[in-house]
Amino acid sequence: MITTFAPHAKQVWFAFLDLFLPTRCLRCGEILDATVGLCHDCWQPLTFLQGPCCQCCGLPFASDIGEAGLCAACIAKAPAFAQARAALLYNDHSSPLILAFKYNDRTDAAMPFAQWMASAGHTLLERAEVIIPVPLHWTRLVKRRYNQAALLAHSLSKLSGVPNLPHGLKRIKPTPKLGRLSPSQRKRLLAGAFDISKAASAHIEGKTVLLVDDVYTTGITLEACSKILLAAGASQVLVLTLCRRLRSDVSGLQVTEPSETLTNNF
Ligand SMILES: [Zn+2]
Ligand SMILES: [Zn+2]
Repeated sequence: MITTFAPHAKQVWFAFLDLFLPTRCLRCGEILDATVGLCHDCWQPLTFLQGPCCQCCGLPFASDIGEAGLCAACIAKAPAFAQARAALLYNDHSSPLILAFKYNDRTDAAMPFAQWMASAGHTLLERAEVIIPVPLHWTRLVKRRYNQAALLAHSLSKLSGVPNLPHGLKRIKPTPKLGRLSPSQRKRLLAGAFDISKAASAHIEGKTVLLVDDVYTTGITLEACSKILLAAGASQVLVLTLCRRLRSDVSGLQVTEPSETLTNNF
């Protein structure tokens, strides 16, 4: 009785709140009919990454160069992770969504975002045996109150049934915001920043791990986490992120229209 009553009570409570607190578009604030959502004008310019890409790191290509096509960086040095995919291009249209999710308590966006990620990374999810989010250092977690990558990992686990290990990785060294730092500065700061929790080791050994984060920027954080997971015995690390930031040397990206399967359920 309790398990059936609780969700019902929750729905009634949210319906009650909706009477007084209309849902607003996350990006522009326009009042919406849906319980969560983006207005048409904010949804339309988003760029979903469904076109040709580097088969390893998922870097979008302007044209298809075949199934074995790799970007220059992956040819020069293969990443520690086997494959990475992202749902959305990080740009002026998508960044307000990510920032609201990350810093402004729009945690209700986690499930719709995870649905986009599950669509973009369905071949990765099918192979994954355990999901692990990129962790925050506890000092930042206290300040921000939640880890956006952990929310995405939790929602992906609910969607796919793949077990989630929210504390599988630990961030043992606080690092400043990496946004404006060069790749070499990032690498230096992230050295020794991550570790595996003892309780998680048994669930990682011999498993294909899906590492989850909100944004793939340079890939250095994801690389550092992948190396720790592989050292702990993971057979393979796959990476799934909500957004992908392009390196400055990439040009000629084709804008991919949202597919019919990606509805505005945000
Ligand atoms: Zn809007
Ligand atoms: Zn690549």
